Amino acid sequence: MNHVLDQLQRPLRDLRISVTDRCNFRCSYCMPAEVFGPDFAFLPNDKILSFEEIERLVKIFVQLGVKKIRITGGEPLLRIDLPKLVGMINEVEGVEDIAMTTNGTLLKKYAQQLKDAGLVRVSVSLDSLDEERFLDMNGRRGKVKTVLEGIEKAAEVGLQVKINMVVKKGKNEQDIVQMAEFFKEKQHILRYIEYMDVGNSNGWKLDDVVEKKDIVEQVNAFSPLEKVAPNYKGEVASRYEYKDKKTEIGVISSVTDSFCSSCSRARISAEGKLYTCLFATKGTDLRELLRSDKDDKAISTSISSVWENRKDRYSDERNEQTMEERKKSKIEMSHIGG
Ligand code: SF4
Repeated sequence: MNHVLDQLQRPLRDLRISVTDRCNFRCSYCMPAEVFGPDFAFLPNDKILSFEEIERLVKIFVQLGVKKIRITGGEPLLRIDLPKLVGMINEVEGVEDIAMTTNGTLLKKYAQQLKDAGLVRVSVSLDSLDEERFLDMNGRRGKVKTVLEGIEKAAEVGLQVKINMVVKKGKNEQDIVQMAEFFKEKQHILRYIEYMDVGNSNGWKLDDVVEKKDIVEQVNAFSPLEKVAPNYKGEVASRYEYKDKKTEIGVISSVTDSFCSSCSRARISAEGKLYTCLFATKGTDLRELLRSDKDDKAISTSISSVWENRKDRYSDERNEQTMEERKKSKIEMSHIGG
């Protein structure tokens, strides 16, 4: 094991793997339909990493310190036979935790298989319980009922469930308390996500951000909260527990209370590019190395040098950015997962 540290002494501990750039939703803050329309050129199959290539990369990253794997997309459950990949990753010695982020529409169907294959945790995106606002946020796809059934099935089979709600002013901020009430009752952890300037397509404006302090204030007024310590260093959400019930909420505040100083996350896109930040503008092609005659040691050296030269602190620096920097084209979140 050769644990690597970046320029800010942050370890490489979490690897997020996008297994597809496709999604069956068109959430306005991630994959707006007007950009990702019917003619959008998604990655052809031969350009996407195979399960065997992903497994090989996981083995290499574990040797560099990775312990937690998160499977993302696009919508990961659109990738055929995904439970098989979970099983392969679960077999890799050194992997301590496997999680997945999904929009929940296919979760009811695959929850048991994923659990049996070794999945531990699932984060389900749900931005509103109100059907009209739900559809308005996700490009008019799916049903709230289907996502809720997926959440219940996941809990039933023993997966640890969290619900992710992106809060956008003028869209769903009126749902903050209703969602808290619903998931407090269900005893599922609800995490509010500040609307972020990910990628280049969502038309982000600071005015559309509902700040963490306002979210916490509203939920606290509904049911008193107390702040609790992070589960581990580098946890993205700030945690708050209800005083009258052992259930919690979290807030991921990349805009108003950023957390880059403890960020230990690397991301791999579906076509095998390594990104060292959610807001990165360029990646390192690992697929080429995987499909060359290079051995694991050579690939590991490439990854180490990328990480050891990492200085990313985008969210911490967001407000100091020059216009020039702001114009730089960032990788789309749908391409590397949240
Ligand atoms: S902005 Fe980049 S460096 Fe900061 S926490 Fe997010 S992914 Fe990590």
